[in-house]
Amino acid sequence: MTAPAALGSTLDLIGNTPLVLLKGPSEAAGCEIWGKCEFDNPGASVKDRAALWIIRDAEARGELRQGGTVVEGTAGNTGIGIALVANALGYRTIIVMPDNQSKEKMDTLRALGAELVLVPPTKFADPNHFVHTSRRLAEETEGAVWANQFDNIANRKAHIEATAPEIWEQMDGRVDGFTCAVGTGGTLAGVAMGLKAFDEQVCIALTDPHGAALYNYYAHGELKAEGNSVAEGIGQGRITANLEGAPIDTQFRISDEEGLYWVARLLKEEGLCLGLSSGINVAGAVALGKQLGPGKRVATILCDTGFRYLSSLYNREWLEAKGLPVFDWLR
Ligand code: PMP
Repeated sequence: MTAPAALGSTLDLIGNTPLVLLKGPSEAAGCEIWGKCEFDNPGASVKDRAALWIIRDAEARGELRQGGTVVEGTAGNTGIGIALVANALGYRTIIVMPDNQSKEKMDTLRALGAELVLVPPTKFADPNHFVHTSRRLAEETEGAVWANQFDNIANRKAHIEATAPEIWEQMDGRVDGFTCAVGTGGTLAGVAMGLKAFDEQVCIALTDPHGAALYNYYAHGELKAEGNSVAEGIGQGRITANLEGAPIDTQFRISDEEGLYWVARLLKEEGLCLGLSSGINVAGAVALGKQLGPGKRVATILCDTGFRYLSSLYNREWLEAKGLPVFDWLR
């Protein structure tokens, strides 16, 4: 066994996450399903990577200078990543977030020293949507940059330059498929582009939650949403700049119930406490594995820690109020 390398900077803790073979999902798919442990990042989510790349890019372009401020609209995880990276580099953080996101994320952002601006959840077309509010705030604040994670392709670069090569190396260059859901699209597009650069044959699948419009877009060329989902951080209604040109070969639509099924099994059978987007990704990976067939190897993203959702996903009253199945051990 090799111990992880000693690191010269706390920022080097971002990325280089472990990859783990998922037993139950592999059995269900009839092939190998691997999970990239993004909850292992310092901010406990995949979004630390985008935060670091976006801030380094703003510095490199000369937009962000000492004492400056990073402003972002986020479902939470990107804000947590930005707050940590900004603290490490001496910047202030302002985060705009819809007020229906988990209390744990809001408490975490405040605890990290970010200034938090809560807005009502609205459609993207509404000028008060959290994305537009964050852009305006950045324009009005002296020395501020807008991270703009949805349309700033420094986001997907993090996954082209780091996540994909890590997966390729960890799987010894034998990767048959990759899938994950989309929030900004940075992870899916970036890992897809990065893996295809190693091997054009890697099959890339979109795993879309209900309530998102991308399944219909990639299947039929029409951006059309159906149903809804309580999953935080995923579910996109448009082609963001990060998604443009993403080499996507096939697509699956996964319900919250299917995602929760895997969240429950991974917790009880494999000791992994995850958020719902991870469960939805695993459901998509099982579907892709079944399609690719025995002997194949599929990777997906375990996006964030379940500890972020103790008052929602892991709470009986909350699950009942949403009409979702309650885990046996919470009854
Ligand atoms: N899962 C969670 C929990 C997230 O917070 C996000 C980011 N919004 C994603 C998945 C999706 O990642 P991306 O923005 O790279 O599409």
